Amino acid sequence: MASFGDGTLNPLIGDGLYFGGDYNPEQWDRETWVEDADLMRKARVNLVSVGIFSWSRIETSEGKYDFEWLDEVLNLLLDRGVYVDLATATASPPAWLIKSDPTVLPVDHDGRRLSFGARQTYCPNSESFRSAASRLVEELVIRYNDFPGLKMWHVSNEYGCHVSRCYCDNCAAKFRLWLQKRYGGIEALNHAWGSAFWSQLYGGFDEINPPRIAPTFANPTQQLDYYRFASDSLRELYEMEAAIIRGHSDKPITTNYMGFFKGVDQFAWRGVGDFVSLDSYPDPHAAQVHVDAAAGYDLTRSVAEGEPWLLMEQAPSAVNWRGINGVKKPGQMRALSLSAVARGANGVMFFQWRAAKAGAEKFHSAMLPHAGAESRIYKEVQQLGDDLTKLSGVASAKVSASVAIVFDWNNWWAIELDSHPTDHIFYLLSIRKFYGSLQRMGITCDFVSPKDDLSKYKAVVAPNLYLCDRDFAKSLTSYVDGGGALLGTYFTGIVDQNDHVVLGGYPGYLRDLFGVLVEEFAPLRPGDGFDFSLVNSPTIHRGTLWSEVVSPTTASVLAKSNDEVGVDSLGVGQGGVLFENSFGRGRALYLATEVEDDFLDIVVERLLGDKFERSASEEVEVVERGQYTFVINHGVEVDFSLNHRQRDLLSGRVLEEAVSLKPYDVLVLEDV
Ligand SMILES: [Zn+2]
Repeated sequence: MASFGDGTLNPLIGDGLYFGGDYNPEQWDRETWVEDADLMRKARVNLVSVGIFSWSRIETSEGKYDFEWLDEVLNLLLDRGVYVDLATATASPPAWLIKSDPTVLPVDHDGRRLSFGARQTYCPNSESFRSAASRLVEELVIRYNDFPGLKMWHVSNEYGCHVSRCYCDNCAAKFRLWLQKRYGGIEALNHAWGSAFWSQLYGGFDEINPPRIAPTFANPTQQLDYYRFASDSLRELYEMEAAIIRGHSDKPITTNYMGFFKGVDQFAWRGVGDFVSLDSYPDPHAAQVHVDAAAGYDLTRSVAEGEPWLLMEQAPSAVNWRGINGVKKPGQMRALSLSAVARGANGVMFFQWRAAKAGAEKFHSAMLPHAGAESRIYKEVQQLGDDLTKLSGVASAKVSASVAIVFDWNNWWAIELDSHPTDHIFYLLSIRKFYGSLQRMGITCDFVSPKDDLSKYKAVVAPNLYLCDRDFAKSLTSYVDGGGALLGTYFTGIVDQNDHVVLGGYPGYLRDLFGVLVEEFAPLRPGDGFDFSLVNSPTIHRGTLWSEVVSPTTASVLAKSNDEVGVDSLGVGQGGVLFENSFGRGRALYLATEVEDDFLDIVVERLLGDKFERSASEEVEVVERGQYTFVINHGVEVDFSLNHRQRDLLSGRVLEEAVSLKPYDVLVLEDV
């Protein structure tokens, strides 16, 4: 996306909305290809991702290529108006490559070399893998760059999905180089890693290894650096393929991310591709699947710096890789798809076009199910294809959010390391709780990284910001000083970028900003908790998971514990629970325990300085994308009120005042 800032259009703008999915013709015969292309046309499919797992079919042995079948398929598709998102086919190396160099196979944390026969069986730092992948990409790009049906390049697939960290000797050697670049000298590394502890001082980089299985907790900074290194190793693969493609082609480049996936720091990957893509697989059995989905969409738009993005994969119904795989109810797939469009997607794609009859994903739903074209799912796919043609004007509109949630991969990696006060803090759960509160209030939010500019946001929420270095503390401080509203929660400001505790009391560099001093903390056992209330309110709320000895320095106490004796021998329950500090022209709120949703909403309302009254049920998702308002009912039948006359682009009807929404009904409203 390096080109976006200079006025160049996002490559996703200009073609309306894309619709289609992964297509794996290598699993089928010619007769089926023709039927597929005809049925795609019938469903208004205009883009398919081809070749993602085709390496062994394209390069049948080293240097021996077979492109004829691919030529035939791509031409057949183009004849029906179906364009191609052509994969570089490097997502799963072929058996001949493994046989020629078994060190291509990755090694896990416990030292076990993984076997061929699944997918993604490669070490990202294997030179054999890198050079074989490079040759394949070059062959593909030279052959297909001038193919008239080529829309974009799909690099690899779901980087890190199964092997986000490899611990082999290739990786050990690369890790040493990475550390040398990061720290310069061994003394700096010893300082950063706190190696004086447990006699871990290193005399040279050649003594260092990945944090493999060890007698007990491995050095925490070594572990944290290994997360960083592993994400960088995968990014290098993406950069490697992108550079080869750009040497021969000016078609846009993307790879499909997996939303809140721990192995890939998507913010640090900005600028490698030309646009951002997402694979979205929320669990249909989850209580609020649409909120889970929406969070992934908003994260992706945020990684794309507000630009349109592509929903590259989702399931038409069930997946096959959970213990029990829930199906999407009639209409639900459409609702979740249009939610993606509402939140900035310029296309809706699926895994996959035709359901496989063999292999590990044969029970993964597909646009064309085993039952064929007379099925519910294919009919719903057709309807969605029809809907998307009516929304092509949406493609140039953007979503703008006034509230942001801080989401930092470095913090995720660090806060969930071992040897901590509790192993019951899960960063994604904390993020999801605040995201859920904002959704209940009908507020669309962005996610921001510590490097992002916060000044455009009215409020910023930073849950469990355990790792907060001096630079981010400065950024947060100047944001509030300039008039922003910030909310932080317990176990925040504890360590710097090296996972060193910031001394003098928590929350470290943020003490003055929050106007509180935390002297000690006491994590609570599951089922334990303490009561607290807002000052001047009789309503009792419950704190769980965490308690701390926190005193205000300059902040005022908005809520405090009711327990005179406290929750344990520290008496920490007598302290404050919610604080607010005026700082410069803004405010910083600090929440000192884990709370239930009703209190969370009170805190968020206080942060935003508004009382939110929803116009419909909280199961009704309302999102503005430019001049378009998307209204999506994920719950039971409900009435929705309009402020003024608007046209629904999907039905063509002009609506006034109130409209009844059935489950999964969607309106896309524009002023008339
Ligand atoms: Zn490796």
